[in-house]
Amino acid sequence: MEKTVVLVKPDAFQRGLVGRIVARFERKGLKLIGMKMIKISPELAKEHYAHLVDKPFYPGLEKFMTSDPILVFVVEGQEAIEVVRKIVGVTNSRKAEAGTVRGDFSMSTGRNTIHASDSQETAQKELARFFKPEELFEYDLKVWDYLYAEDEKE
Ligand code: UDP
Ligand code: MG
Repeated sequence: MEKTVVLVKPDAFQRGLVGRIVARFERKGLKLIGMKMIKISPELAKEHYAHLVDKPFYPGLEKFMTSDPILVFVVEGQEAIEVVRKIVGVTNSRKAEAGTVRGDFSMSTGRNTIHASDSQETAQKELARFFKPEELFEYDLKVWDYLYAEDEKE
C-alpha cells in the first residue's frame, strides 16, 4: 500500500481548520499511520521546498512555514499519493475545485492550508524527512475488508 505525507500549514491552525482538514482524509478511508506537531526550521524549509528556493516568493514562504507549528501526518491506502492530491486540490486555492480542501477552505496560493507529496519519489523523501521509523505505526485496520474488495488489496 502506498504511503503519503500531508502537512497542515500554520494558516489552518490560525483559522481553526486542523480537525476538519484531518477529517477529510479519515472519511475517505485512508489509514492514518503517523501524526505529530512540529516546528519547521529554515534549513528544513529549504530542503522541503528545494524546487522553489530561487523563486521570488520563497522568502515569504519560508517565513510563513517556519512561523508557527504545523501538523504532519502520513496516510496509507491504494494509490494514496494521487488520491490525497485530489483531495487537496490545485496549488492556487481560488482555482481549486469545490469539495477539495483548498477549494473549500482557502482563497490563496501562499496561504493554501495544506501540503501533500506529489509523487512516489517525493513521498519517500518526505517520509524520511519528517518521520523516524518508530513514529510510523503498523496496525490492523478492522474495516479494511469494507474499504477494499479482495482484488484491490496488495
Ligand atoms: N507557492 C506560493 N506562490 C507560488 C507558488 C507556490 O506561495 O506562486 C507556495 C504554496 O504555498 C505552495 C507551495 O509554495 O503550496 C509549494 O509549491 P508547489 O508548486 O510545490 O505546490 P503544491 O505542491 O503545494 O500544490
Ligand atoms: Mg509541491
